[in-house]
Amino acid sequence: MQLGLSSCAVCGTGQLGVLRLPVMQNIGGFQRERSDPEWDAEANVLFLVQVECDVCGHVLLFNSERLEPSSTKSLVLGLTQEEEDALPDDDPAGP
Ligand SMILES: [Zn+2]
Repeated sequence: MQLGLSSCAVCGTGQLGVLRLPVMQNIGGFQRERSDPEWDAEANVLFLVQVECDVCGHVLLFNSERLEPSSTKSLVLGLTQEEEDALPDDDPAGP
């Protein structure tokens, strides 16, 4: 997704890259189980997309829910299907 930045706004020379994994930010405290006495109904976690300059390290964070509707599954737990397909075949019965 193009966000309108082609080079770093701080150093002006670096290329911006998106980290593959999200940044998790706790909002209103840490999320706990409902049975925990310190459970807070307002606690939540935001998944942020980190964009980083490869020269100066300037970091931009974007709320992932603003980039895609929450109904879209943009976060994948574990490996993606493409990553699983790229794994070597570990079949112990193989040659
Ligand atoms: Zn920079």
